[in-house]
Amino acid sequence: MPHREPFGAPSTWLFLLAASLPAGMARRLLYGKNRGYMIQEVIIVGGGTAGWMTANYLQAAFGDRISITVVESSKVGTIGVGEATFSTVRHFFDYLGLEEEDWMPHCSASYKLAIRFENWREPGSYFYHPFERLRVVDGFSLADWWLSLDGTADSFDRSAFLTPALCEAKRCPRLLDGSLFVSAIDDVVGRSTLSDQRAQFPYAYHFDADRLAFFLASRAAGLGVRHVVDDVVEVRQDERGWISHLVTRLGGELHGELFVDCTGFRGLLLNQTLAEPFISFQNVLPNNRAVALRVPTNVEQVGIKPYTTATAADAGWIWTIPLYGRNGCGYVYSDEFCTPEEAEATLRSFAAPGQDELRANHIRMRIGRSRNSWVKNCVAIGLSSGFVEPLESTGIFFIQHGIEQLVKLFPDKSWNPALARTYNERVAQVIDGVKEFLVLHYRAAAREDTPYWKATKTRETPGELASRLSCWQTILPDDAGIYPHYHGFESYSWIVMAIGLGYQPRTARPALSMIDSRSARAEFTNVADQAARLVGKLPSAYEYLRHIH
Ligand SMILES: Cc1cc2nc3c(=O)[nH]c(=O)nc-3n(C[C@H](O)[C@H](O)[C@H](O)COP(=O)(O)OP(=O)(O)OC[C@H]3O[C@@H](n4cnc5c(N)ncnc54)[C@H](O)[C@@H]3O)c2cc1C
Repeated sequence: MPHREPFGAPSTWLFLLAASLPAGMARRLLYGKNRGYMIQEVIIVGGGTAGWMTANYLQAAFGDRISITVVESSKVGTIGVGEATFSTVRHFFDYLGLEEEDWMPHCSASYKLAIRFENWREPGSYFYHPFERLRVVDGFSLADWWLSLDGTADSFDRSAFLTPALCEAKRCPRLLDGSLFVSAIDDVVGRSTLSDQRAQFPYAYHFDADRLAFFLASRAAGLGVRHVVDDVVEVRQDERGWISHLVTRLGGELHGELFVDCTGFRGLLLNQTLAEPFISFQNVLPNNRAVALRVPTNVEQVGIKPYTTATAADAGWIWTIPLYGRNGCGYVYSDEFCTPEEAEATLRSFAAPGQDELRANHIRMRIGRSRNSWVKNCVAIGLSSGFVEPLESTGIFFIQHGIEQLVKLFPDKSWNPALARTYNERVAQVIDGVKEFLVLHYRAAAREDTPYWKATKTRETPGELASRLSCWQTILPDDAGIYPHYHGFESYSWIVMAIGLGYQPRTARPALSMIDSRSARAEFTNVADQAARLVGKLPSAYEYLRHIH
């Protein structure tokens, strides 16, 4: 994979000479006087998924042109969850030059083709939200045709997508020779980022968050990232209020130019020190707590489901994330409607009956976003920047988006305010867009059988979503009708959720009754035939993954 040289590559003899000098002198020699104007010292506070993803990404982008220190507390643990991802996460590993074989075995990782929503419409109902775009026939999506043809024979998701059949047969998205089951996925040469994604990549991953952080920490250490295990007890500011340095418990001082706050919900630098306000989304989204369990599984016996399951429960929903060797399970709920003890009991009886020895991890969630994630010389990434809730696995996507934007808008010593302003707008748009998408889940879910589900229908609706929702009672969401800025979800996802949850137009678009439907019918048949062929051809997820692990 070619490595790009953003500032022009120094010649080989310079590298040889530099190798004999101390690091600071070598950098000056290699990158010349421009370097004096660049930010050189980056301090990252926090060693969770956000801290280590950021350290690895900045190192991959800028190499030894910057020095990176990660400081993490041995007393304050990481959040310990965050195991399901979004299909775009492949750009992160790709940027680092990591193949699946390099990292998946270290993180108990498995494939994720979709989220299966259970009981959101009524008990026993289910549908899949796949990483697969909708096909279009004669200018209308298969969703419009499905409504017009009166539901064909099967449910919408199973009629219009290949993925549900693969999920139900527990198939792997790769053949045993490693090739992908769909061709013509992005043909980007070299490293790629979210903005390079033109086609929908068909899968994401499940992984153990602690192991991923450990893997990324070891990798970063090998590449020269300094790792300090100590508590930050004080954040000192200069006369302008900018962060000058950190004081640690063991008495050390950490001086830097750019400080990245990856301290999780604490927001130690951004919120506590720089007093940047946090905008809560609790007025529009119901859940504020979670309880999680790690449940061992025998993959040889039960296989591996290549999807996350989100099962609606009385006061929230339960995630089941199948890793290689255990399931990550958790109940996300609102403490207005359920106590932590009730939530734990519900989760245990659902996910791990009789396994009382498993330790439950109770988590309070801070739902919303910091007003600005970049303030002065501090950029917050991860939970300190913002978090909606785990429902569409977007926490790690926010981290990835944040670090990609940080690289694209990386400052020099002039600290041009336009960089921070642009960064803050983009981060806010992504988080606000996902917030709207999640509000759709609760508003559109047909369930109203408990006080919690009744209340989801009367909660405030953000921004323009109310008028969009009323429009979607007549026509399905399309590109021009959803949240208008990049937020990771395309219109097909909004359609899948609206129909799956029971919030679909009562009638099809009138125009379709006047257009010949033969091509559309043929396409539904095509989908069914292709799905059956793939189920016959692809190995099971377990069969494939056991060769990697
Ligand atoms: C219930 C729940 C479920 C989730 N599920 C998903 C999911 O399925 N998919 C997904 O993409 N995302 C998910 N997320 C989000 C995901 O977990 C986070 O985005 C991700 O783990 C990043 O966390 P973090 O690194 O920001 O914070 P943390 O993991 O909390 O790490 C904070 C770090 O800061 C350090 N620290 C704190 N204070 C100090 C100090 N004073 N001095 C030194 N170090 C300090 C700690 O030691 C720790 O290393 C979930 C989140 C929650 C709450």
